[in-house]
Amino acid sequence: MRVPVVAANWKMHKTAAESAAFIEAIRATSEDVGDREIVIAPAFPALQAAVEAARGTRIQISAQDLHWEARGAYTGEVSADMLTAIGCSHVIIGHSERREYFGETDGTVHLKILAALEAGLTPIVCVGETLDQREAGNTGVVLREQFTAGMGALSPEQFGKLVLAYEPIWAIGTGRTATPDIADEAHSALRSMAAARFGDSAAEALRILYGGSVKPGNFAGLLEREGIDGGLVGGASLDPESYAALLCA
Ligand code: PEP
Repeated sequence: MRVPVVAANWKMHKTAAESAAFIEAIRATSEDVGDREIVIAPAFPALQAAVEAARGTRIQISAQDLHWEARGAYTGEVSADMLTAIGCSHVIIGHSERREYFGETDGTVHLKILAALEAGLTPIVCVGETLDQREAGNTGVVLREQFTAGMGALSPEQFGKLVLAYEPIWAIGTGRTATPDIADEAHSALRSMAAARFGDSAAEALRILYGGSVKPGNFAGLLEREGIDGGLVGGASLDPESYAALLCA
């Protein structure tokens, strides 16, 4: 039985004070949804305040990125140990915006997964195709490349600790959600790749989240599918009422 995850990716939104106020606003709802894992990813400067606001609740705090080295001359970067030291439990890795604007590759995704696991953070690893790739019929090939280069060299034990997020790039922030059929097809393809590389029980245990214009109105339809184990949500996670509705979907 895979517990669904409802993960909020706040991107470059919300100050420390705004993050703490949001967590206070959803505290009561978070107590009522024991069958959901709740993960919120604020921006770096708000992480500490979010961890403190979430103390004693079921809400877990994630970073949106990390560097793969433990320390050193990497101006502007943050290490896995720095995140665990302030109480983060998760980290998003390989988001398409990091890939598109900041040179993230499957190789750096792999290094970041290793660094996160070594520090005890749960990686939420994002994969997904562009519209051109989908229209050219290459979705399966793209997902396989990202899966193999990013995760293929992990040990089964390491693989068992991560959460995967299927985020078709054409659906992120566009209002154009993948239909449950489209999402389900990609999730099945990813689960088959996991089975082929890591075995049936690892694939069965793997949680695969869908991300891309998830809203309270379309989330329940996605969650109904057996292979969709929650969501990684951007825009609709910024408002406490909307996020609370997602938690209850
Ligand atoms: C995301 O950034 O991970 C995302 C899915 O964004 P949105 O929900 O706004 O499409």
